[in-house]
Amino acid sequence: MLVSRRHFLATAAAGIALPQRLWSASRIESGAMQVETLSDGHLVLPADFVFGGMPETELAPILARHGLASGALEPPCNVTLLRDGSRTILFDVGAGADFMPTAGRLSEALDALDLSPEEVTHVLFTHGHPDHLWGLLDEFDEPLFANARHMMGRAEFDYWMDPDTASTIGEARQSFAAGARRRLEAIANRISLFEDGEAVLPGVTARLTPGHTPGHMAFLIDAADPMMILGDAVTNPHVNFERPDWPSPSDQDAELAAETRVGLLDQLSADGLILVGFHLPEGGIGRVERAAKGYRYLPG
Ligand SMILES: [Zn+2]
Repeated sequence: MLVSRRHFLATAAAGIALPQRLWSASRIESGAMQVETLSDGHLVLPADFVFGGMPETELAPILARHGLASGALEPPCNVTLLRDGSRTILFDVGAGADFMPTAGRLSEALDALDLSPEEVTHVLFTHGHPDHLWGLLDEFDEPLFANARHMMGRAEFDYWMDPDTASTIGEARQSFAAGARRRLEAIANRISLFEDGEAVLPGVTARLTPGHTPGHMAFLIDAADPMMILGDAVTNPHVNFERPDWPSPSDQDAELAAETRVGLLDQLSADGLILVGFHLPEGGIGRVERAAKGYRYLPG
C-alpha cells in the first residue's frame, strides 16, 4: 500500500498526540567534531505503509517484541547537525510547515541550541522526500539556510527535477514529486551536485544507498569514531533490523532497498560503525550488532 500526503494528514488528525521530546539531544563528541541530532518532530504512518506484504505469522512476534500494537506508527525525525569549529553542517532540513502537523519543528530545536539558520554553512541532503527536504524554504519561499552551500546527490536531484517523475512515480507519491521539484527549483542555481563515493566535504564521503529513493545517499563520517549518517536507508528499529531482507512498501523500490539494507547492516555491524538514523528511536544515534536472527539496534 502506498500513502499519499492526504492520507498522512488524515491519519495524523485521527491519531492521538503523544508527548514528544522537542529535540532529542543525542550527541557524540569525536575529536574536534561534535555530532548531534535535532528533533523535527515525528511522522504518523499507517502500519500498512511499513509492514504491508510482510508474512504475518513471522511479523507478529517481531512487533510483539518491540511493543508495537497494531495501528499508526509514530517514527521520530532526527536531523543531524555536525559541527567541527569551522563548519556547521545540517544533514537534511526536516519537513517544514506544509507536510504533517507533527513534524516541521527543526527551527525550535535550533533555537534551543541558540543556533540561527544563517549560521549553517552546509546543507547535505540524503534524499528528496518531504520530511527531509520540505523545510528548505522560509515563509517567503526563500532558502531558510540563506548562507549555506546546499548539496545533493546528482541522481537524486535529477530524479526529482525530471518533469516526467510526477507521472511515473505513482498516484500515492505525486505530491512528493511536485513538492520536491518546486523546492529544488528554488535552489537550482546554487545547489552543488555530487556522485557516489565522492568526498563531499573533508571527512564526509557520499555513499549511494538506493531503493528508498532512486538516488538516496548515506554519508560516511571520517572521525575518531567513524560513523555513517543513514538517512532513510534503514528506517525503523524493528523489521529493518530483524529482517533487513524484507521489502517494505515505505521504500519506492522495495527490493532494491532491501538489498541495500542487507549490505549496510553487514558492514556497519562488522566494522562497529556508529550509525545515525533519521527515523530511529532515542535520537537515532546508536550501533548495530548481529543477533540470533538478523540484527539488533543498540541506541546510544
Ligand atoms: Zn524519512
